[in-house]
Amino acid sequence: MPDASLPGVHHITALCGDAQENLDFYVGVLGLRRVKTTVNFDDPTTHHLYYGDAAGRPGTTLTFFPWPRATNGRGGAGMVRTVAFAVPPGSLAHWRDRLAAHGIEAEDKTYFGEPRLHFSDPSGLPLALVATAPVEDATPWTDGPVPADRAIRGLHAPVLPVFSDDRTAALFTDVFGWPRTGTDGDRVRLQGPGTGVGTAVDLLVRDRHPSGRMGRGTVHHIAFRAPDSEAQRAWQSILREHGLQVTDVKDRHYFRSVYFRDPTRTSGLLFEIATDGPGVHVDEEDTALGQSLALPEHLESRRAELERALPTLSVP
Ligand code: ZN
Repeated sequence: MPDASLPGVHHITALCGDAQENLDFYVGVLGLRRVKTTVNFDDPTTHHLYYGDAAGRPGTTLTFFPWPRATNGRGGAGMVRTVAFAVPPGSLAHWRDRLAAHGIEAEDKTYFGEPRLHFSDPSGLPLALVATAPVEDATPWTDGPVPADRAIRGLHAPVLPVFSDDRTAALFTDVFGWPRTGTDGDRVRLQGPGTGVGTAVDLLVRDRHPSGRMGRGTVHHIAFRAPDSEAQRAWQSILREHGLQVTDVKDRHYFRSVYFRDPTRTSGLLFEIATDGPGVHVDEEDTALGQSLALPEHLESRRAELERALPTLSVP
């Protein structure tokens, strides 16, 4: 029997404006590691930038398609609105000062008993730093500007706005098998079976939400972890048995992916199920992760052309 559980979130992919501005912010301000510099395999003249912990593990990874000519997007129903990161308890005061020193105003909030800071990235993507219980086996990036005792551990529960009559909660509870573990006002937490970071999502359940518009500063899709290809195939079948339209397996070089949409809204959330392996070390040594343009074999012959088309990025 394959392990038919989805332990947690694998990665989140968002759209941003300028690639260098994005790199300066996530590496230079938030202190994440740039774990891969590659291209959008569906549009290879566009970068695909990966940020994560020291090991670039699933559950820690936020990736971006820079889209400099895009208009501003707006998070709303059918999208992931807020991307959240786990930080150590007691570190929020340091983070508030650090963000203020970079001209970023953060708002204090508390949900599910966890204090958090809300702010936006340079493209307007809503972010949260959530002070959580210490994360076991955390491998934060400590060669960056943020000391180890404050560094981001990985993803925390992202916020998904859904309508009260949506069946999105049922997709998590009945299909994924992620139970509700808490409610806080109009927020519902759904918890995956994994350990470590990135194992939950928060639904924001309301009768009304602004309609979302894809553009810079919005999330493109959210991916959940399948431990291996066998588990992924099992999920393809399970989802199809539930009447969901699931794509064939696509080779994303660092993982294999299938995609489907939350069927409860016409503009439903785009979900992905991605394998844990082979991972970001498949084509680069650890010390070289993210430092130069990594291309899958089928794009290697176009390297010179792509390097001319892509903006040059410098380390912040
Ligand atoms: Zn993805």
